[in-house]
Amino acid sequence: MLRISNIKLRADFDPSKEKELLAQKIQKILRVKQERISSFSISKKSIDAREKNNVQLVYSVDVEIENEKSYLGIKNVSSFEPSEYGVKKTQKTIRPVVVGSGPAGLFCALVLAEHGLNPIVVEQGMDVDRRKMAVDKFWKDGELETSSNVQFGEGGAGTFSDGKLTTGVKNTRIPKILKEFVEAGAPSKIAYLSKPHIGTDILINVVRNIRKKIECLGGEVRFETKMKELIIENGEVRGVLLDRQGESDVIETDAVVLAIGHSARDTFYMLKDLGVDMIPKPFAVGVRIEHHQKDIDLQQFGSFANNPLLGASEYKLNAHLPNGRGVYTFCMCPGGHVVAAASEKNAVVTNGMSYSARSGENANSALLVSVTPNDFKGDVLGAIEFQRKLERKAFELGGRNYFAPVQLVGDFLENKGSKQLGDIIPTYTPGVTPTDLRECLDDFIVESLKDGLRVMDRKLAGFIKHDAVLSAVESRSSSPVTIKRNPLTFETNIKGLYPCGEGAGYAGGITSSAVDGIKCAEALMEIEV
Ligand code: FAD
Repeated sequence: MLRISNIKLRADFDPSKEKELLAQKIQKILRVKQERISSFSISKKSIDAREKNNVQLVYSVDVEIENEKSYLGIKNVSSFEPSEYGVKKTQKTIRPVVVGSGPAGLFCALVLAEHGLNPIVVEQGMDVDRRKMAVDKFWKDGELETSSNVQFGEGGAGTFSDGKLTTGVKNTRIPKILKEFVEAGAPSKIAYLSKPHIGTDILINVVRNIRKKIECLGGEVRFETKMKELIIENGEVRGVLLDRQGESDVIETDAVVLAIGHSARDTFYMLKDLGVDMIPKPFAVGVRIEHHQKDIDLQQFGSFANNPLLGASEYKLNAHLPNGRGVYTFCMCPGGHVVAAASEKNAVVTNGMSYSARSGENANSALLVSVTPNDFKGDVLGAIEFQRKLERKAFELGGRNYFAPVQLVGDFLENKGSKQLGDIIPTYTPGVTPTDLRECLDDFIVESLKDGLRVMDRKLAGFIKHDAVLSAVESRSSSPVTIKRNPLTFETNIKGLYPCGEGAGYAGGITSSAVDGIKCAEALMEIEV
């Protein structure tokens, strides 16, 4: 197979002509007639918007053609062999228990099931269909279900998300993950887009179908089933004690995968009491910021804004402050919604999601300040109390009804509480309370956010538009701890206990958590990839 990279098309063509235009480019580059090309497919597609009056789409394409070696001298043309993630031989016969059905747990269980180990997945939250009803009720009426919400339930924290599948890690397991997503109902273009995205509406089907595949392969998935305790003897895992709505059950096993995510606070406390080695990890907290998407598009795409070939635009901003802190935007959701993402009573947590069309009026993003263990007191889990304090203050300030406290950027910068909203209507439900966010955020967070906003406005004009809305508090962007594991065996100081994914501190986001879940399955089965 030949790969041709760096093929550029100015982003003003009729979208239905994309393949035709690429075919012409391929013929020109290889200097061949159309009949010589057996087939071609897009393997990568990205947007180059550095020049606002000449936004381009940049492609790599994979071409099947006879006598391919004869084209290898041509610029940007290389040869490659597509590789598949295969099933390897394992001597292991144990039936592992996987705790958590987020991306890490699902992909770990999938690979274990493909190798014939019949894993049992236990998930404290509901299956995705019942979970959706619980989440919708919370967003509408403010009635929170503490075990099924935006953090917990089938698919984990990734289900009600923006569904960005981009990751900073380069890993050979990513094509396998994207292939599984496509087989489970995601559009095939995620395999080649440089910034693949699927949205909550598609994710709901995808996680349901991946679960069904695990079951078809001999795995078992138990919802509304919480791992209450680990059973440990002589420093080795012997099983798990489960709770299913008040009924206890024990599963005996020598291998437990902890894919518990970053919000499983009671499980972290249980692990600490058992003496599982954990260390605090730097993390970040802040607010969500909302602008009109059309204003962001104008800044990012200039005269190409509103072009259907480009979709809603994104941004990623950061500022290194003289006080040593970093302020950065995170998990930007073009055309998305700010969502109520609490998992504990009397707490307000914000996050962002979108549907696949990304057609909402607003753009939102987390605006975060780095936090280190020096910023709070307490032991290894002191960060959890720090997050909890912020979330409870936000709950009080919002009006004790899960409304988010909000403030206009202009007022925030001028140290004035907001009394009303401007022309940007916040998307957070069940509602918002205009107020003064200084009453719920620590001084270092407020001052860093202000400095960061001013720096970011120099990078993206209009970022500190007066009416842009800040909603508090964004406190669950990553895990505040790392569960230590042996880099080869992936076990903790307790034999047979395998932490993985975001909660264990080894991933950040859907795809990297899925990668870590697969790596964990491989380590558990002692197979080499
Ligand atoms: P999780 O997905 O958190 O899953 C852990 C699961 O374990 C949960 O379902 C939980 O209920 C279960 N669990 C915990 N303890 C127990 C127990 N004791 N017994 C039984 N079950 C238990 N990332 C992206 O890459 N792109 C995005 O666009 C994106 N948007 C997001 C939007 C929102 C609103 C949120 C909340 C997150 C978003 N993320 C996004 C982050 C992403 O969802 C996480 O990084 C990812 O889900 C982490 O995967 P995980 O499997 O490690 O943990």
